[in-house]
Amino acid sequence: MNAVKKVLVVGGGIGGQSVAIGLRRAGIDVEIAEILPEFNVYGVGIIQQQNALRALDDLGIGQEALRRGSPYGQVKMFTAGGHPVGLAGAPANEKYPSHNGISRRVLHEVMFEEASKLGVPFRMGLTVENLENREDGVSVTFTDGSEGEYDLLIASDGINSKVRGMVFEDLQPRYVGLSVWRYPFKRHEDLDTGYIYYGRRSKIGFIPMNEESMYMFLVSAEGVDPSIPKEQLVPKLVDYMSEYPVKIAQDAIKEVTRAELVNYRPLEALRLSNPWYKNRVVIIGDAAHATIPQLGSGAALAIEDAVVLADELQKNPEVNIALEAFMKRRYDRCMMVVNASETLGEWELLEFEGKPLPEGANPGALIGRTVGALGAPI
Ligand SMILES: Cc1cc2nc3c(=O)[nH]c(=O)nc-3n(C[C@H](O)[C@H](O)[C@H](O)COP(=O)(O)OP(=O)(O)OC[C@H]3O[C@@H](n4cnc5c(N)ncnc54)[C@H](O)[C@@H]3O)c2cc1C
Repeated sequence: MNAVKKVLVVGGGIGGQSVAIGLRRAGIDVEIAEILPEFNVYGVGIIQQQNALRALDDLGIGQEALRRGSPYGQVKMFTAGGHPVGLAGAPANEKYPSHNGISRRVLHEVMFEEASKLGVPFRMGLTVENLENREDGVSVTFTDGSEGEYDLLIASDGINSKVRGMVFEDLQPRYVGLSVWRYPFKRHEDLDTGYIYYGRRSKIGFIPMNEESMYMFLVSAEGVDPSIPKEQLVPKLVDYMSEYPVKIAQDAIKEVTRAELVNYRPLEALRLSNPWYKNRVVIIGDAAHATIPQLGSGAALAIEDAVVLADELQKNPEVNIALEAFMKRRYDRCMMVVNASETLGEWELLEFEGKPLPEGANPGALIGRTVGALGAPI
């Protein structure tokens, strides 16, 4: 027997839609409350490693993500000038490619179509105004004045989660001193897998999204105040890119012309302490464990949270036992990724600032260890 019959999911992003799909597949009633009046997913891509594809498969949408994305091999890593330094990511196995690159919009569509097919209602343009979180259920008043009674509220409302602030301690994301710049392009003729180049002031990567398109990310150190006026986005990004004489970067520079296509974002991390639940509210995804993207794994963790939570709620007749089991399966694994990503970020920051790395620092080994550990079953 399921631990819950009726669930409210707050936030219809990657984690929220994933958990709604998982719960509906388990026969549990679920609705999504999304603050945006309509979805507006930005047009760059996302890196999916094998654990993300495995979790999507558990939700029944892994093959569709592969079909509409761009499966690719291990990432080729180079110096800024194009000298090879190694490969990153697990090799392909009998089930999955090393990676899948996919547009965020397309991933959203894959999830939205599946959730809609399963009958998940999306309540758009509203959020939780008030909640009463009891041992036996949660009463919610929404911002449109409507009310609801639920067995469980799952908050997947992102790094600045409002629900987290209503139920747990006040927790602010921490800016790590790095920013990422992203830009979508027509796929470059030479792009046969993911590519990363390590420069003096930045690192730059090119990731396929499908046969026709790719996106670029560039990570830079932006000091204590990372804000950049819109008119400086294109010139500053082009300046960073000019450090890379390789053809793909030089060809891309010519196309970086539109400030509105530059997705510039200071990087932030956040850790909610264990447990991520209180009575009948549980926090998942970035709202509980936002990682900087140095391992390209934040969305994968949100999808895994969803798979595990749906599994435990289905297996256990008691909610608190299901939530405790959820924490046992999720906390250490998520912290491993958040911590390793942050360490990689600290080392990148030192390099971009021209400072020496601490003794024993070995980014390649840390990436290899963490990616290897992510292959373990969830
Ligand atoms: C620069 C960058 C690059 C990244 N690259 C990768 C990558 O390559 N691979 C990877 O796996 N991960 C990557 N990530 C991480 C990934 O984007 C996140 O981990 C993932 O989006 C988290 O999903 P989520 O559903 O928890 O939160 P979100 O995606 O933030 O979704 C939250 C949803 O809740 C809604 N919402 C917000 N507030 C409320 C509210 N009060 N009420 C109702 N709804 C609300 C939002 O509108 C949104 O729809 C990257 C992150 C960054 C910053």
